[in-house]
Amino acid sequence: MIDTSWLKISKSGLYIVPAKAHIDPVRSVNTAIITHGHADHARAGHKHVIATPQTLEIMAVRYGANFAEQKTAVKYNQKIQLAGVNLTLIPAGHVLGSAQIAMEYADTKIIAAGDYKRKSDPTCAPFQVEKCDVFITEATFGLPVFSHPTPEAEIQKLLEVQQLFPERSVIIGAYSLGKAQRIIALLRAAGYEDTIFIHGAMKKLCELYVSFGIELGSLQTTPIGRIDNQQISLANKFILAPPSAMGTKWAQRLCDPLVVSASGWMQVRQRAKQGGVELPLVISDHADWNDILRTIKEVEASEVWVTHGREDAIIHACTQMGLAAKALSLIGYEDESE
Ligand SMILES: [Zn+2]
Ligand SMILES: [Zn+2]
Repeated sequence: MIDTSWLKISKSGLYIVPAKAHIDPVRSVNTAIITHGHADHARAGHKHVIATPQTLEIMAVRYGANFAEQKTAVKYNQKIQLAGVNLTLIPAGHVLGSAQIAMEYADTKIIAAGDYKRKSDPTCAPFQVEKCDVFITEATFGLPVFSHPTPEAEIQKLLEVQQLFPERSVIIGAYSLGKAQRIIALLRAAGYEDTIFIHGAMKKLCELYVSFGIELGSLQTTPIGRIDNQQISLANKFILAPPSAMGTKWAQRLCDPLVVSASGWMQVRQRAKQGGVELPLVISDHADWNDILRTIKEVEASEVWVTHGREDAIIHACTQMGLAAKALSLIGYEDESE
């Protein structure tokens, strides 16, 4: 019999009762186990933070070196114990340092996968399949309509428009942690060697990736913002900027920019139309419908808890597969990082 009474939902998020520790808490707590560095999962204000070395470094970039009184770096697949609960952080394939939290207690193994994906990403360790009794899955793209193409095919489109419009600059809206570095690495893998320009807000995170051995090639912070009221050409160059900078004065300083957006949501026509996107790229850091179901099968869990998105369709699919499934109504996690 599996016993899940030791893992509860509290106002702050998932709570491991015997360990007195929360996973990705949305409020300040004493002990927080953090799956990855996206702002809705890795918040400031916890006393003790347990995470991979990469995630701790990302939090330090965001919140300053003293973001917690105590920090415990746990490498992938290193076993630790917290008041009798065995804990392991295993790769989730989402962004640099992202981890699934594997917990064993009372003869029951539960994995909280956090955000994860199965498609290729040269900037982080691939998702590790590990068997468990209960699998807690996200469902950001948990509808059958969501089917993500290979990122390599999407990157080819980017190279094609650059060739097609040599007089225009190509500005790509991409989240600063994970998506931006992944696009840069995918461009490099496709043979693009020229300097890639980045928005100043991405500089530290790109440097952090490089310090962990992820090669990004020649990068340069855009001169926009330093030169007053002057139009900048950067014709035929790629410029990466956070989605929040698109459509601002910053972006208008570029000459005739071709606007690209890279997100799993770009599959939704309505979203792609917003913000004058000319080239929507479906590049997602989350698992699509098929990959969520494939993962549920591979981990061989008898119970599935669904969170973070479109729970209903995944629960229905699990029930048809003969699995027990329920929705965890966790609040406070946004999809903006997508
Ligand atoms: Zn995330
Ligand atoms: Zn998330």
